[in-house]
Amino acid sequence: MYEYGSFIEGNWRSGGDRFVTRNPARPSQTVGAYRSASGEDLAEAIRAARAAQALWRRIPALERGDLVARFVDALAERTEELARSITLEQGKPLAEARGEVGKSCAEARLMVALARRELGEVMPSARPGVRNLVLRRPRGVVAAITPWNFPILTPMRKIAPALVYGNAIVLKPSEYTPATACLIADASRHLLPSGLLQVVLGGGELASHLVSAHGVDGVTFTGSVATGRKVYAAAAGNLAEISLELGGKNAAVVHDTDDLDAALDAIVNAAYLCAGQRCTAVSRVIVHRRLHERVLEGLARRVGGLRVGDGMQDGVQVGPLTNERQMASVRAMVERGLADGARAIVGGAPAVVRGYEEGYFYQPTVLADVQPHHAVAREEIFGPVVSVLAYDTLDEALSILNGVEYGLTSALFSNDQRVVQRFVDESENGMIHVNHGTIPDSHMPFGGIKNSGVGAYSVGPSAAHFYTTEHSVYLKERP
Ligand code: NAP
Repeated sequence: MYEYGSFIEGNWRSGGDRFVTRNPARPSQTVGAYRSASGEDLAEAIRAARAAQALWRRIPALERGDLVARFVDALAERTEELARSITLEQGKPLAEARGEVGKSCAEARLMVALARRELGEVMPSARPGVRNLVLRRPRGVVAAITPWNFPILTPMRKIAPALVYGNAIVLKPSEYTPATACLIADASRHLLPSGLLQVVLGGGELASHLVSAHGVDGVTFTGSVATGRKVYAAAAGNLAEISLELGGKNAAVVHDTDDLDAALDAIVNAAYLCAGQRCTAVSRVIVHRRLHERVLEGLARRVGGLRVGDGMQDGVQVGPLTNERQMASVRAMVERGLADGARAIVGGAPAVVRGYEEGYFYQPTVLADVQPHHAVAREEIFGPVVSVLAYDTLDEALSILNGVEYGLTSALFSNDQRVVQRFVDESENGMIHVNHGTIPDSHMPFGGIKNSGVGAYSVGPSAAHFYTTEHSVYLKERP
């Protein structure tokens, strides 16, 4: 059982209101007992962050990178411990959780390497004897709010760039999955100066105080659109820089393919990993009518064969949903889809797993006969559910694809160059894949457009735009 309070200035706090987390596969099992941060704790964390950042920013960038690299190595050494904490609180299969730890370390190492490269420009001068430079400097103190679906990947996607670019960070992880964030903080002890990486524990109210606090120079939030709007408004009060990574209603368009099996394997993988609770999960399959029946049949066979169960057990492919609220929401969305006229060709109801009858398991589901105006075709479900929609023309496919408020990621399966070019030009998404699923690489910019995101993309070179400030410098030679 995990027992933690907030990690402030290198120490664990023991006071504050108690809250617990539960194993979603066995909700009667308490996994962790935590103490919420108070308003005073939060103020102290921000004060400590400012002090730590004032010293950290003076350390040469390469030396900072070395320290962060050692911290990342320490996390990698604790892969098993971190992965178990993810599965116990979030529910995903242990193998997937290990993969999440590996990907987090890979992305963090990329940020260490990028922070050693050029960070600015030499510009031509408009005046004699003057050299013009564009420099980037650390932003300051970053507040980070993360959801429960990736308990290490999302925090590390914020912690690594913040630190390598010379910032301090105060992280508020989801109250459903704090154990992993506490283990990250624990790994930083003795490797990073105290106050540089702090974790404050609590729920939405604490998060809202953090994002609106004075002394915070940038706010990076990953979560739902509804909460993202509140965070945007709160950060505006301080005119703090913002980065919002929000939801998606991602689609795979199957237009023509000479390897339908490979296409369906990629789609199923992208749709049902993490029980569909990935912002980049494929949630709609938009298929040309001539392939419609074959796609339904191929999806039904694959999805019907997925093994649902406790993520700690070998061979389980789909774990439980993370909490009761998510279970209720997925259930309600599917029921609404069925009432609207969709047909569940696989799944369509909670799953009963022997020995785990109280767990939040939902059957991997494929909904056919979905129309573009149905809620299941437009709203994020965030569960193991795919809606299949048929089309006759490419124009129609693009109109269905783009006819949602989200713009995170998309995939096309086609061998027709004309179709590929139009998709790359017209898919209204931050990330665009052709002939494979929607799982992103560890070195490519990650983000969305429309209601899926605001601000610089994370991962890779674009992260510097959020984690640093820009300065135009004019250096005149002494006469
Ligand atoms: P959520 O309800 O929006 O919560 C996200 C975080 O915000 C949690 O830490 C939550 O705290 C906190 N929070 C709650 N109320 C707040 C407030 N008033 N001000 C500031 N923060 C507040 O989202 P979720 O249900 O945890 O996560 C699922 C959503 O995240 C989905 O929409 C998914 O698509 C999105 N997501 C997007 C990306 C991306 O990169 N685009 C990645 C992953 C997930 P508590 O949990 O403690 O209440």
